[in-house]
Amino acid sequence: MARVGWNKPPCPVLLPSSWQKDGKTQSLGTPAFLDPLKRFGLHENRKCSILSPVVTEKTTQLVQLDAAEPAGVSRTAFFGLDAEALAARMKAVGEPAFRGKQLAEAMYRQRLTELDGLTTLPKALRQRLAAEGCVVGRPRIAQVFQSVDGTERYLIECQSGESQAGAPADRPIVAGVETVEAVWMPEGDGGETGDGTEPDAQETLGAPGPDFGTWESSEPQPVSVPQAKPQSDGPGKTWSRATICVSSQVGCAVNCQFCLTAKLGLQRNLTASEIAGQVVAILDRQAVEVGRDRVNLVFMGMGEPFLNYDNFMAAVRLLVREVGLSPQRMTVSTSGIVPGIERFAAEPAELRPKLAISLNAPNDQVRSELMPINRKWPIEAVMDAVRQVRLRSRERITFEYVLLGGVTDQPRHALEVARLVRRSGLPAKVNLIAWNPGPGIAYVMPRPEAVEAFRSTLAREGIPTYLRRPRGRDIFAACGQLKRTVEG
Ligand code: SAH
Ligand code: SF4
Repeated sequence: MARVGWNKPPCPVLLPSSWQKDGKTQSLGTPAFLDPLKRFGLHENRKCSILSPVVTEKTTQLVQLDAAEPAGVSRTAFFGLDAEALAARMKAVGEPAFRGKQLAEAMYRQRLTELDGLTTLPKALRQRLAAEGCVVGRPRIAQVFQSVDGTERYLIECQSGESQAGAPADRPIVAGVETVEAVWMPEGDGGETGDGTEPDAQETLGAPGPDFGTWESSEPQPVSVPQAKPQSDGPGKTWSRATICVSSQVGCAVNCQFCLTAKLGLQRNLTASEIAGQVVAILDRQAVEVGRDRVNLVFMGMGEPFLNYDNFMAAVRLLVREVGLSPQRMTVSTSGIVPGIERFAAEPAELRPKLAISLNAPNDQVRSELMPINRKWPIEAVMDAVRQVRLRSRERITFEYVLLGGVTDQPRHALEVARLVRRSGLPAKVNLIAWNPGPGIAYVMPRPEAVEAFRSTLAREGIPTYLRRPRGRDIFAACGQLKRTVEG
C-alpha cells in the first residue's frame, strides 16, 4: 500500500532545545521530559530507536529545525485561539477588541475557512491580515473512507508549516503534511446509550446488538473530494443523531496489547487546534446545526487524551465556549491515567465531558497482561481517582470492556466485572465492545453466544450493560483500528 499523506514528525528528543522565532528565544524548557528517553539509551549516536527509519532518513529536516528561523514558519493560524485571545491579537494590531469576537464567531459558528470570507471584518483589515501572513488555518479533511454502514473515516490534514494557534511553544512547526484520523458514525454506535443524562426513548438496555460481520482485510479505498452533505433537517436528511470520534494524539504510548493504534507508538501530541479542528471540519462536512442536531462527541480515537491533558482540555473549552457544543454530549475515554483523572475531577462541571474508563479485564492480573499501564495504576488506584469526580445528577461512569475471545469473555469474568463495578460504589454502566481485529494482533473475536452470555450475566447481576455496535470495520474505523493509513 502506498503511504498516505503523513510524514512522521521528528522525534522530540532530537529537536533542538531552543531556537529563535520572531527575534525571541523559544525553548523546550522541559529537559526532565527528555531525560528518561536518554537514560534508557534510546538515542545513542543520535539514532532514534523509538521512531522508524523515516525520521533518521530525514536529517535535512532536522538540520533545518536547528536553523534560526525554521523553514515554513511564516504564517499565523487563528484557528485554535478563543475569542479572548483573538481580541488580544486584534488589540495588538491596533484594532478594537470586538474584532476578536467577530473572528471567533466566523471561524467557530459560521465555520468559515478563509479570511476573505469574513465579511464582518472591514476589507482593508482582511487585506492587512492576509498581507501579514494570517490565515484561519483550520485542519481540513484530506481524505474520506466510506463504510457500507454509513460510517465515514477521515484523514484530517493539520496545517503544519504554519505557526499554529494553540500550538505549545515547545513544538517547532515542521513543514509538510500530517494527517490524523477521525470518524463520523450516523446513529452512533450504542456507546452513548444509557449515559444517564439525557435519556432517549429509542435506547433500550443492551440493544442494538453487534453485527458480527467478518473482518475484511482488503484495503479500504478513499472516496474522492469531500462533498458537503444535506442539512440534517432538510429533505435529504440521512441521520437523526450521530457520534463523532476524535483523536488526541498521533499514535499512543500506552501499548495495550489488543489495540492497533498502539502499534504506532506515540508519534506526537495533537494541539488544541488540531483536536477541535477535527470536530469543526466534520460538523462542517455534515452540515450539523449545533444546538439543534443531536451530535455526541467521543474522545476515543487515536491516543490517550489524559497523556495530552492540557491540549485535550483546551480543545474541550474551545468546543464548549466557542463552537457551542454541550460537554454533556462529550465523553472522554482513558486507559486509567490516574494523575489525569485527578486533574479531570477538579474541572468545573460546565466544562467537563463525561468519563469512560477502559477496564477491559476482570482483575489486575489479566489487566496487567493486556494493558501494561495497569502495573503503574492498578484497578483500585483508578477507582479511587474516579471517585473524586463529582458527577452531575443522573450521570454515570462508563466502564468499557473489550471482549477478547477466550481471554476476557467467559461467564466467570462477567461475574468478576459485576463485583468490581458494585464494589466501586460508583453509579456506572458497562459498555461491551466485541474486539475488532487487526493485522499482527494475535487475539480472536468473541463468539456471538459468548457476548450475549456476558451481557446477560452482567444484566442479571444488576449492572446496566450496553453493547457497542462495531461501526466501519470495512474501512478500519472501528474502535482500536485507527492506524492503517500510516502504514507503509
Ligand atoms: N486511549 C483511550 C481512548 C482511545 S481507545 C482508551 O484506551 O480509553 C477507545 C476504546 O477502544 C477503549 O475502550 C479501548 O479499550 C478500545 N479498543 C482498543 N482497541 C480495540 C479493538 N481492537 N477492538 C475493540 N475495542 C478496542
Ligand atoms: Fe492507547 Fe487506548 Fe489503544 Fe490503549 S486502547 S493503546 S490507551 S489508544
